[in-house]
This record gives sequence, structure tokens and C-alpha cells, in this order.
Amino acid sequence: MIPLSEPTFGGNEAVYLEQCLVGGYVSSVGPFVDSFERQFAAWVGSHHAVACASGTAALHVALQIAGAAPGRLVAVSDFTFIASVNAVHYTGADLLLVDSEPRTWNMNTELLRDRVVRRAARGHRLPDLVEIVHVLGHPADIEPLLELRERFGIRIIEDAAESLGASWHDGRLAGTVGDLACFSFNGNKIITTGSGGMITTNDATYAARAKHLTTQAKVPASSYLHDEVGYNYRLSNLSAALGIAQLEQLADRIGRKRQIALRYAEQLEGLPLTLPPHATWANPTYWLYSVLLDEAAPENVVARLSSAKVEARRVWRPVHLQPPYATAERLLGSVAEAIHARGLSLPSSSHLTAEQQRRVSAELGSALAVQN
Ligand SMILES: *Cc1c(COP(=O)(O)O)cnc(C)c1O
Repeated sequence: MIPLSEPTFGGNEAVYLEQCLVGGYVSSVGPFVDSFERQFAAWVGSHHAVACASGTAALHVALQIAGAAPGRLVAVSDFTFIASVNAVHYTGADLLLVDSEPRTWNMNTELLRDRVVRRAARGHRLPDLVEIVHVLGHPADIEPLLELRERFGIRIIEDAAESLGASWHDGRLAGTVGDLACFSFNGNKIITTGSGGMITTNDATYAARAKHLTTQAKVPASSYLHDEVGYNYRLSNLSAALGIAQLEQLADRIGRKRQIALRYAEQLEGLPLTLPPHATWANPTYWLYSVLLDEAAPENVVARLSSAKVEARRVWRPVHLQPPYATAERLLGSVAEAIHARGLSLPSSSHLTAEQQRRVSAELGSALAVQN
């Protein structure tokens, strides 16, 4: 079976893990967490980074720090992995789901901006925050959100879980323009710590508060004084050791993902499908290479590929079609539905070989020929 997306271990993972074992630092104490945070911040170009137990935990805390709470309204992408909205739900804030735009599949930020301006003119409720998800390795069109922040003080949280290393053409990386940004190191992401996440921010106060909340809100140098309700969201030293080894390979991973994308673009030419988004102003990483099928039902193609020992997967069902969020307020949703109806993700592990990739493309060609 050629898997959809598997972790790649090709560097100092075993060396650093062994150092944890030998030193006895496997849990909440040890040198790797600080070091991972510093190196990560430097890599993405952010002043501060705070390691977390998962991407979801990172989002929960970042949202809370930015003011998400009962009575507040958070605008979020409708087309995303469920964790993006679950994290909002944990804070007790209300949701405003915003449809995708066809160019990048990301949140239609122009639609949101226009609606907010109109609502403001009428004195209607505005979002307090926007959580923008950079989906599948492609950065979102952020400019309209910068305008909203400027005019209405709407804070920006970036969910960059899938887009570590993706950038805009001016060189800024996804995860460096929001008030706070979150990353994930789950096993299927471009680098992994087993499970883990990171919050980045340029604001020292936010960073200190993120560290405080993720470590049970214990007042430093106190004997068990906790000044608010915190969380056990810290990353273990073991995971951080893995993270440092993975970070050393990140540039190479991104190069491989882009190479895979180039090869797919060549091999899939002429098939009845649309290649993944690539806006002129963006440098995507193609974290999970995903196409839109012209005619064929993705469900059937997934099944055919599976019997040919190739793992493919449909893209997310929009949040507004998920039972817990069916009644959430939303702006449109038909683009997200169309992407779900036609989208298909193909094997994209960074160690995918050229030979394997030829097989995937050939099997997809046969599957689509049968379909049509
Ligand atoms: C993976 C992911 C998350 C959650 O990360 P975990 O580390 O699995 O908790 C959040 N948002 C998006 C868009 C993701 O893909």
C-alpha cells in the first residue's frame, strides 16, 4: 500500500531521544523544550514560540489569549479540519463560519471584509476575532483581514497547522502576521513530534501568558500558587527532542513536497481534474497534494485506488455540515461544499519515491477512465 501521508525520520531523531533517556529528562523538565521553541521561532521568523501538547491545545490557548470567551464572536474558515472550530467551542465563543474562495480553497476574506463593513454601517454585531486557516499548505489571502484589524480592531489568529513553511511572495511565512499563530506536529504534518503544537507571536506578553496557561498557570517561584485556571498543555522533553531533529530537516521536506507537486502536475496532465490551487502571490508547500475531479465521484475513486493499493482520501466535509455546528451562523458555504464534493488528496509523504508516484498517477488515470 502506498500511504496517503506518513512521517519521515531521516536525521538526528534517535540521537536526541537517546540523550533524553540517558539524562532522565523525558517529561516536563529538560533542555529540549526551550531549545525547540527558540529554534522554531527563528525558523519561521517570529519573536516568540511556545510549545504545546498538540495543535488543538495551541489553538485553544491562543484563542483564549486573543479574547475568545462566552459572548464573543469568532469568524473561522468553514472548510477546515474540525479542530479549528472545536478550539473556538472550548472557549465558549460563538462561531461565524466563512465560506472558501475557489482560488485557494481558503477563507473568502474579501467576503468577510465586505460583510463586516456592511454590518458596521448598520450597527450590527461584528466578529471580535478571526481565525484564518491556511489549508493544505497554501497561505490564505490575508490582506483583507489586516484591513479589518486596522479599522475595527479584529484580532487575527492563524491556524498554520498544515502550512509550516508556506509563504507569501513578499517573503513572510504563514504564521507570522497574525496576533498569534498555531502549528501542529501531529504524525501527518510536515514535521512531527508524535503529538505536539506551537504558538508563535511577536508579542512578549502574549508569549508569557501562553507559557503560563499551558503549564497549569503556576506562579513562578511560588509553592503551588495558581492565579487562574490553566491547562496541562505542555510539550514533553521527549517530543521536543524529536521536534528539533525534524526541524533540522524541514527545508529539505518542503523541497521534496514541491518536487512531488511538480511531478504530479506533469503526470496528471490531460486527466479530467483540476490541479491544486497555486495563487500568483503565494509559495505553497503542497503539504497534502489535493485535486478536484471534474466528473467522477471521489468516493468511488478512493475505493478503486484502495483496491490498487494506493491510499487516497476525500477532503473535509465543511464544518456547517458537521452535527455539532449545523446551527452555527455562517456566510454562504457552497464553495466549501463543492470542494468537498469533488476534492481528492493523493499520497504525499515527503519520502514518496518517483517510482511510487508514477504508480499513483497511473492508477488514478485508470480509475478515472473506468469512472467516465
Ligand atoms: C492537524 C490540524 C489541527 C490540529 O492539530 P493536532 O496537533 O492534531 O491537535 C488544527 N487545525 C488544522 C487545520 C489541522 O490540520
